[in-house]
Amino acid sequence: MTPEEYERWIIRDCARCGRRASKSAEWSDGPICRTCYNRAMLVRGCCPGSRADRLLPGREATGTPVCRDCAGITRDFFCDRCGFEGFLLGGRLCERCTLANTLGRLLDDGTGHVATSLQPLVTSLLEMDRPKSRLIWLRNPNVVRLLRGLAAGSIPLTHDGLHQETPWRTVVHLRDLLMDSGVLPRVDRRILLYQRWLAERLATVQQADLDAWHTEKPATRRPAQTFLRWCMKTSRMPRLALSTMGPPSPSDWETRPPHFRSPSPASCGHTSSPADTCPTPAAEAHGGSSPDASPASR
Ligand SMILES: [Zn+2]
Ligand SMILES: [Zn+2]
Ligand SMILES: [Zn+2]
Repeated sequence: MTPEEYERWIIRDCARCGRRASKSAEWSDGPICRTCYNRAMLVRGCCPGSRADRLLPGREATGTPVCRDCAGITRDFFCDRCGFEGFLLGGRLCERCTLANTLGRLLDDGTGHVATSLQPLVTSLLEMDRPKSRLIWLRNPNVVRLLRGLAAGSIPLTHDGLHQETPWRTVVHLRDLLMDSGVLPRVDRRILLYQRWLAERLATVQQADLDAWHTEKPATRRPAQTFLRWCMKTSRMPRLALSTMGPPSPSDWETRPPHFRSPSPASCGHTSSPADTCPTPAAEAHGGSSPDASPASR
């Protein structure tokens, strides 16, 4: 079709918005642009002519929405599968039936059916309002990858399994949906976000960062050494030196919160100095077994 033919046959002044654009339909009130067509597919209510509660894509001369029968629109908008009257997509299927098809394809576990464990997610998504927004969500290649991975088993269907995946915003939303539908047990979202932040922070921490962090509040942060050693041992963070920190000074001790302090010399029966009673890295590394290491926990 040449540009001249396109202009002659397709471009019209829309009968509803007046915009000059390519027409999507030619109805009783005139040519309809794509925007007005999509808008008409959302108008529902009781038709003043037929008194039926249904889709009202047409317009009376006064502009009142009416059903296709009253408006004389020859095309019908009934889904070929479920009979719902509304916006139709490929194969003359409504948005909800199209969503069911798409989910069935993405969550196929290899048997031609949705993985049983993910069926509650499908049910939950199909029951939501605005299936169109779910179809748009499923266009995201990361969502497609995650759903396929969960269905095929390459991504474990657990909180830990999702913890390894990116991008985190997509994972967070998917995790919420899995929890809402009962596929995964509910956990505190703030804890999950903190765990993710911590994992990412530890993976990129450098020696200067670690030294600066410890120097700022050595007494309160020193107990984290046990955790940091474990992180290094399990490759959660690069191997860095913890030995650059000296023992905490008496002023550090004064700023230490009560639950980190050892009992007073009188209460534990000897006269060691505060620095002596502070758990040593070695003691912490062995599970804090020093008698003075964690008085508050006993
Ligand atoms: Zn229009
Ligand atoms: Zn009607
Ligand atoms: Zn349908």
